[in-house]
Amino acid sequence: MVVDPVPTNRIILRVKLSAAYYDVVQATSAQAALAMLRKTNPDMIIAAHDLPDMSGRALCAAIRNRTAARGGPAVPVVIIHGENDPHERMASLAAGADDVLERPIDDIVMLARLRSLLRARDAEAELQLRDDTRRALGLAEQASEFTLPGHVRIISAGRPSELRAMLHGLRNRSDNRFELVEAENALRDTGPTPDVVVVSEAAGIGSAGLVLLPQLRANHATRHSALIYIARPDQRREAAAALDMGANDLMTGGPDIDELNIRIQKQISRKRTNERLRANMRDGLRAAVTDPLTGLYNRRYALPHTARLAERAMASKRPYAILVADLDHFKQINDDHGHAAGDLVLVTLAERLTQNLRAADLVARWGGEEFLIAMPDTSRAAAQRTAERLCALMEHHPVTLADGTKVTVTLSIGIAIGTTPRDTPTDLIRSADRALYAAKDKGRNAVVMADTVFPLPQPDAPTPPADTINPEPTPAKQMPR
Ligand code: GH3
Ligand code: MG
Ligand code: MG
Repeated sequence: MVVDPVPTNRIILRVKLSAAYYDVVQATSAQAALAMLRKTNPDMIIAAHDLPDMSGRALCAAIRNRTAARGGPAVPVVIIHGENDPHERMASLAAGADDVLERPIDDIVMLARLRSLLRARDAEAELQLRDDTRRALGLAEQASEFTLPGHVRIISAGRPSELRAMLHGLRNRSDNRFELVEAENALRDTGPTPDVVVVSEAAGIGSAGLVLLPQLRANHATRHSALIYIARPDQRREAAAALDMGANDLMTGGPDIDELNIRIQKQISRKRTNERLRANMRDGLRAAVTDPLTGLYNRRYALPHTARLAERAMASKRPYAILVADLDHFKQINDDHGHAAGDLVLVTLAERLTQNLRAADLVARWGGEEFLIAMPDTSRAAAQRTAERLCALMEHHPVTLADGTKVTVTLSIGIAIGTTPRDTPTDLIRSADRALYAAKDKGRNAVVMADTVFPLPQPDAPTPPADTINPEPTPAKQMPR
């Protein structure tokens, strides 16, 4: 949406934007723009700074209020200023405009800026959407209002001494930490990861800074840093290319300290927001696959995990074991000592299981008081020994309840071994479950192998098929238990 009272300005912009395949709607005043907002739902708003009814800055604030009330993603707002109006441009940036342009508009730079803003907006909208889902699930954490000072690395394409005055000025204007680095050391991994990297071109040495941008974007240490590129006033082509080569923001008139300070601050807060959203998402993913009581993985994680484990077992021709373990007479614990005591027993069992199995073994909470254990590279005998050890562990070590009472809770375990691709994890879990029932039948505190519950009829198949793995491989290859 283009908002400008001057018809020729609107027409020039519309022609430039249409040529780049943007659909353009036009408004002649701030009120008209606000009235059209909901109906046209623009992806971006480009407004003149001197509208007849309010300033571009005030329009920007009004738009922010409306979209915040609707809860949608923020629409980027770009404000266009007259020539040689650095003070006003700065004020618009500081007031929250996403970017500012100067007349006469350099269309190549403008289009690069618009692409960059739309890219950033799409990435943020995506993260925001996931955060909203998390919030709906009751998993979100509130953003902290407090932002720590940022770490800013300034790279000079020329002699670093040229930027000393700029560095001094920046230090006077914010709490951020600044360091000056020469171009040849720009990709060296030194010190803390910078929040922002500023690349400044120097006079008379071409575009040495520009070529650094994609390298900084790909570099391990600066991959997630925001990149600000400062072109000399004569570097029009460099300025136009920078945003598509990895820069997040751009200054076209050389290093202006006040403007740079504002742009650095904007990049830091945008990066912090994205980091928070990303961290929330990681936590959300973790929450989706773990059981809140015991911290163990849940069924949703365990199923695909066992499928991968089976594939790997077949590829390496090593057998794997599936164990289903269930507490004995657990209902009685709840009845005798209360539900909280029951919970404590579950937590204790979860801890014991994880501590007494290998790191590669998966322990998951399968149901109420039922646990699934998936063990790669495990023979029938090793699985049996492990299961018996876990039963003995519970039998001989009572659980101490909150009131000091000690209760002995035993465990029954069913085991199935996967040796051929025909043994799908789902089949093995079902077999192990049947074996578990047999263990309960035997009187509980017992281990039963699935192949002893339903012995496979052998007469028709005297020799095992070629893809069958010997369930008893050489003991030397087994992990100590
Ligand atoms: P069995 O030896 O045959 O397995 O008997 P059981 O009592 O352990 O089995 P049953 O299936 O009869 O009862 C399971 C009990 O586990 C019932 C249920 O209330 C309890 N339970 C399931 N989830 C939880 C939980 O998260 N916390 C607590 N405290 N109890 C739970
Ligand atoms: Mg039980
Ligand atoms: Mg049960």
